[in-house]
Amino acid sequence: MTCSRCSTVNPELARFCYRCGAGLTTSADRTSHYAASPGEPVRALALVSTLMPHVSGSRHHLYKWGLALAGAASLVASGFGILPVALICAAIALPGVLLMYLYDHEVWSDDPLTVVAACVALAAALGVGIGLLANAFSGSGAIIGLTNNLPSTGRLLELCVVLPLVTLIAVQVAPVIVTSRPRFKHTLDALTFAALGGASLALAESIVVQHGAFSSATVHNTSSARDAFIALTLGFAKPIIYAAAGAITVMRLRRRTSAYPLGLLEGFLLIGVYDSAVATLAIYGDRGVVLTFIIAAITAAVGLIRIRDEAHAALLDEATEATVAPAGHYGGNCAECGLPLVAGSAFCLACGTAVAAMPKPHQQHIASYASTSA
Ligand SMILES: [Zn+2]
Ligand SMILES: [Zn+2]
Repeated sequence: MTCSRCSTVNPELARFCYRCGAGLTTSADRTSHYAASPGEPVRALALVSTLMPHVSGSRHHLYKWGLALAGAASLVASGFGILPVALICAAIALPGVLLMYLYDHEVWSDDPLTVVAACVALAAALGVGIGLLANAFSGSGAIIGLTNNLPSTGRLLELCVVLPLVTLIAVQVAPVIVTSRPRFKHTLDALTFAALGGASLALAESIVVQHGAFSSATVHNTSSARDAFIALTLGFAKPIIYAAAGAITVMRLRRRTSAYPLGLLEGFLLIGVYDSAVATLAIYGDRGVVLTFIIAAITAAVGLIRIRDEAHAALLDEATEATVAPAGHYGGNCAECGLPLVAGSAFCLACGTAVAAMPKPHQQHIASYASTSA
């Protein structure tokens, strides 16, 4: 069977072109099979397979459990009126699970120190800076909280334009540094490290901005529901928005496409919508808190879908550009479905998983076949 996209001759039973990943049969519509996780459509609203793209089979459910438990702990703490604990439980969940994923899949190859130092420590330091800036702009320090007056036009400009711009630059710093190393230059590395950096930055920023909640750790006169919405917004939605803004921009930067400025615009809009909601809805009290959460959740969802669009396109394009070893020999097994790969595959011809999305040790294993059969 000859691929209509790249003219590679594929084995008769192939569903996907092993060279460029295009669907070869009518059932293999590529938009229904995300290149990093073909069991899901490209535009599926899936947190784990989006921010942790290397296929992990049996490990995915652990990450989901980790996030769900942290979310539940956060809600329980909110129920007891302990906002600091609720915030911390929610905010450390995503960076924690991302670190576990990096460790599990050896995404950091043999250089965990650089990755953790840049993506956690540096990003957190930048997050402290962003938090201080947000406090200086808002004047009160209570970004999501008790404000009775709509900020002045000047303040709105600072909070809705300047703050998102500075944040957009900050979320790119750590992933740009890490992906400047040759071994981390792949698009999926840009995605993962932007996710870890964005989540760490959001965690540090939230602690600085909401420090009032920590200094008055005793029960204050707010409702449990309000605390829960604040914790979910700061602990889950905001880190995802930052991760998305960082991932979209740095993936485009590393692909060296001319679309980088467009990525910057997208990243700015994602952060800007969130910051604007926080700045303008604070005056509506509890209703404002809920509305802020809804807007943040929708923005985070849009961000996740945009990451998937970008990663999917990158995986398909990179495979077409890459030069592949001579085909026809056995090239190891697919990490997702276990079926044999044709030597020199960029995609599994049975399930359509990108080889670049398989765990790194597995990729090295596959590469060893390519070098012996060449
Ligand atoms: Zn093809
Ligand atoms: Zn497969």
